[in-house]
Amino acid sequence: MAFELPPLPYAFDALEPHIDAKTMEIHHDRHHGTYVTNLNGAIEKHPELAGKSVDELLRDINSVPDDVRTVVRNHGGGHANHSLFWVTMKAGGGGEPSGTLADALKSTFGDFSSFKDTLSKAAIGQFGSGWGWLVKDGSGKLQVVAKPNQDSPLMEGLTPLLGVDVWEHAYYLKYQNKRPDYVAAWWNTINWDEVAKRFSA
Ligand code: MN
Repeated sequence: MAFELPPLPYAFDALEPHIDAKTMEIHHDRHHGTYVTNLNGAIEKHPELAGKSVDELLRDINSVPDDVRTVVRNHGGGHANHSLFWVTMKAGGGGEPSGTLADALKSTFGDFSSFKDTLSKAAIGQFGSGWGWLVKDGSGKLQVVAKPNQDSPLMEGLTPLLGVDVWEHAYYLKYQNKRPDYVAAWWNTINWDEVAKRFSA
């Protein structure tokens, strides 16, 4: 069974005015679509990998055969990262989480505003293309990390809970070179229920 592009769980314009409809359409249909196509190309060369989920492939990236490892890292990473990105945003999102996730953020970062500042700085400071992430480590502890390109936190044994894509394709049409403005706007799209679900899983 080949990997498939998951449908966007809302309309292209659902995140307006924070993220514009044209960016969402190109980002989902073409960029994410290409990651899925190229990941499937790698799996076709190694049918023994076909039963695995993309998360499994990334968690054990060193066991992926040499000739397709970079493709799985980049395009499998792209597929996994974007699959999470779409569902952790929603129309009318933003605000602050509640419950055990809110408690954990407070205990790790001091308060929500310090967490927000830490993740924003990591994302804005990522040189070139990449992502800023809120992750959970093996003991359940939260961390903020920045990763280049489509490198998935899964490759380091970390579980991604929330990520902000800072590739230019994620914001250039509306924000051009103003990455900080895009990151600030992205906070208004977050689906905290989905992030909390992943934290508790
Ligand atoms: Mn992207």
